Amino acid sequence: MGLSKWLLSVALICVSVSVRAEPFVVGGAQSPQSLSPYLRILVDEHRSLTFRDVVESEFSGRWRTSAGDGANFGFSGAAYWVAVTLHNPTASPVELVVRQDYPLIDYLDFWQPTDSGSWTQIATGDRRAFDTRPLNMRDFIFPITLPGNATRTYYLRYQTAGSMNIGLSVSSEIALLPQLSKEQLLLGIYYGGFIVLVVYNLFLFLAVRDRAYAFYMGYAICYGLYFGVHNGVSYQYLWPENPWLANQSLVALLGLTLIFGIQFVRTVCAGPQLAPRTDLLARVLLYALLPLTAISPFVSYGPMILILAILTLVLSMLFMVMGVLSLLGGSVSARYFLVGWTALLVSVVIYMLKTFGLLPHNSITHNAFQVGALLEMVLLSLALGARVGEIQRSGYLDPLTTLFNRRHFDERLPKEFASAERNGTPLALLILDLDHFKVINDGLGHVRGDAALAALGQLVRKQIRKPVVACRYGGEEFAILLPRTNRAQAAIVAERLRHLVAELSLEDISLTVSCGVAALEQGNYASAIQLFEAADAALYRAKHTGRNRVELAPRNPEHGATQRTFVAATS
Ligand code: GH3
Ligand code: MG
Ligand code: MG
Repeated sequence: MGLSKWLLSVALICVSVSVRAEPFVVGGAQSPQSLSPYLRILVDEHRSLTFRDVVESEFSGRWRTSAGDGANFGFSGAAYWVAVTLHNPTASPVELVVRQDYPLIDYLDFWQPTDSGSWTQIATGDRRAFDTRPLNMRDFIFPITLPGNATRTYYLRYQTAGSMNIGLSVSSEIALLPQLSKEQLLLGIYYGGFIVLVVYNLFLFLAVRDRAYAFYMGYAICYGLYFGVHNGVSYQYLWPENPWLANQSLVALLGLTLIFGIQFVRTVCAGPQLAPRTDLLARVLLYALLPLTAISPFVSYGPMILILAILTLVLSMLFMVMGVLSLLGGSVSARYFLVGWTALLVSVVIYMLKTFGLLPHNSITHNAFQVGALLEMVLLSLALGARVGEIQRSGYLDPLTTLFNRRHFDERLPKEFASAERNGTPLALLILDLDHFKVINDGLGHVRGDAALAALGQLVRKQIRKPVVACRYGGEEFAILLPRTNRAQAAIVAERLRHLVAELSLEDISLTVSCGVAALEQGNYASAIQLFEAADAALYRAKHTGRNRVELAPRNPEHGATQRTFVAATS
């Protein structure tokens, strides 16, 4: 070894000794303060050191300071020893708490010196029973008393299969209270939101019996519990007796979340119908996840969480694709789904950028993931609502023409009639019937006949705007309700439709339509049925006076009724 190199390494040793973190000087009413810049850390690769070894090696140069304000060492098989020195410059003792805010540490040991010079140890961690914690809190809080004019060093030992996330802070006991009450309030709001969503969708499930709600509930419950495990709340409140569950539940809950997520997305985005190949891929991933999730609590945490993380990434992209395909297929619920899913992904990206130091660490970036997840749940719940709307509407739609069906017309006509009467507004009704349609069917076959009906449906749909209601009343008969439209206006609409149908270019098919028009004006009809009969009679006259024409019902209903009898008698 060259002299310069030797000098360099001596210098490095000196440096590593001299970078020994300064003691943290606590104030009388110390507000919560991160201890990360004041930590000395000793990595015990083989987990072979005892507390004695560690205390005696204090100045051996093996200790290093923690860089930056966070001390996240990722996954590590080593034990991490942490020393922190606190100094109380005042004459009176202060009551303090040292807090480790990441609750998923398997084994956490804390040593504090006593006045007599010996040490007391607290052995806790989430692999140990919950009541090993000095305080019944979701994370680890160690109360200490620092005597006046004293400088004391405290030691901790971390050993964990998960993320080695050393997040220590110190505060006076009093100053911790407002901090805790704020945290508890936010956690309450957060989990309250999840519970409300689950209960709300449970009731909807009982009412609608749509599988999508069951998947949604499974998804929300597992996702909520997953965050609960992450925050340490699940262990504290749900299974404090069970350290095994506290640890193994995390991966299993993540797996279950993904399983319910897949099923939910497949259902809401109508995967099997709208995008069968993408749906097949989703199903393959589902079948892979089922056994993985089943064994996850029984195998080692590290590789499992890695596999699940990769699957999560793949599924996130797949769900996006399924949402887009469903949206292109015309689904309304896919819109909410996509917005919800985007919200979640954006929040995950924010969280990642923070983790990699590209965004500042603040309460927004730190909680982005969780907030995004809740926001996503709300939007997915809206997607379910839209889905119910879609299902209901489909019961009122005619699949061939995509107009409303007879059922809808029968319900809608009396409503529109009543509302027109109540408000004193006019209401017009058009009844259209294709001319000699049987000939088309008989000559060209029903398939071509159907195509003609579909083309007519499209034409009508293009011509009308809300509040006009167009329905397929029967085989080749259509009824169009025109609220706030008087007799003359309705005649113009009918004439335009007749014209457009005649001009419709359908290769060798030429269509014409006959139309009867009746309008409710100044109470000239006593009931919806009378209005309908008047339009029907007018249609009848149109047929009998040559077809491809519009006939108006007379203003006076009595005339209309007699007219019909007359036409019927003479035909
Ligand atoms: P008119 O001018 O007197 O109305 O003559 P028309 O042949 O249209 O009247 P008719 O009521 O005798 O025949 C209606 C035909 O419409 C009978 C049936 O073959 C056909 N039709 C009814 N529903 C459908 C359908 O859903 N698809 C097809 N392709 N044809 C239908
Ligand atoms: Mg006809
Ligand atoms: Mg007919």
